Amino acid sequence: MTPIHLRGVVLPDGEHRDVWVDGGVISLRPVPGATTVFEDGYLVPGLVDAHCHVGIGPEGPVQLDEAVAQAETDRDAGTLLIRDCGAPIDTRPLQEREDLPRIIRAGRHLAKPKRYIPHLGEQLEDETELPAAVAEQAAYGDGWVKLVGDWIDRSVGDLAPLWSDSVLSEAIAVAHEHGAKVTAHVFGEDAIPGLLRAGIDCIEHGTGLTDETVELMSRQGTALVPTLINIENFPSFAKAASKYPDYAAHMTDLYRKGDTTVAKAIEAGVEVYAGTDAGGGIKHGTLSEEVLALHRVGMSTEQALGAASWSARRWLGWSGLEDGAVADLVCYDADPRKDLTMLRHPRRIVLRGTVVA
Ligand SMILES: [Zn+2]
Repeated sequence: MTPIHLRGVVLPDGEHRDVWVDGGVISLRPVPGATTVFEDGYLVPGLVDAHCHVGIGPEGPVQLDEAVAQAETDRDAGTLLIRDCGAPIDTRPLQEREDLPRIIRAGRHLAKPKRYIPHLGEQLEDETELPAAVAEQAAYGDGWVKLVGDWIDRSVGDLAPLWSDSVLSEAIAVAHEHGAKVTAHVFGEDAIPGLLRAGIDCIEHGTGLTDETVELMSRQGTALVPTLINIENFPSFAKAASKYPDYAAHMTDLYRKGDTTVAKAIEAGVEVYAGTDAGGGIKHGTLSEEVLALHRVGMSTEQALGAASWSARRWLGWSGLEDGAVADLVCYDADPRKDLTMLRHPRRIVLRGTVVA
């Protein structure tokens, strides 16, 4: 691997600096014989899609070669670290490929029969199976376990929690004992208090957050990945559910309040990260659009960029552009803090110390 050299304004600190890369690692001291691959622009720590599904396509589970193509699409948009929020197929072979983004797998979604998208997750007949299933996914995944917190209950005709508070407490404690964090898909209001009281680490979507549950998240340090570009699909979910008018009305209401709900969480100091929910209804490679959406609902451009880069990396245990850190970075010709649409046009992408795009 030839050493490389880059020069530019390094974010988030904003200092104009020379950066060398040798053996996949960043060096702030000159490396002899390095080839200059980028000058006069902005260097951003590798972007993070904190809610992505490599292995899911519009029709459901995909073959491994299609999953590779999805990961390549994400990479070419600058996403170099993915928190995969549940995959029906085993994507561990992708983790062995040096040219693909780093993937933190959450294993398989844990749901119940008829209480999630078919074929995507494990369906537990009885909720008493949840703690053991969580232990199994904690062992299979990379430090995260994904629960489906609520979904339409057709017998009720509306969103409803899948799990009782007591089983959640037990299951989340089991995950923590196994060194794994837990997150949950939640659209409505009712599942959130039980998940938070059980000590969940993150909430996905969170459109049903209230002033009380926002306050609780902020106090407990629970993260939120709102997937705003996927919330845009709520009106179509509502339209497709004409047999369930209460559910349709509920989804429409959650959609209407969506931006305000996330804005309140940001304002209350909840840690909010960028996630696209790419896989089913959302295309891969769309992280820049989620960053723009986070800015729309109240994050500064710098905060929104951090939510998809240095802040998210820190949250997931990965470093930024420091001496000795892994060389995962994206280069832009102009300052993305001034114009977030720059994120659509990465000039150079360096992954594990190699220029990949
Ligand atoms: Zn998802």
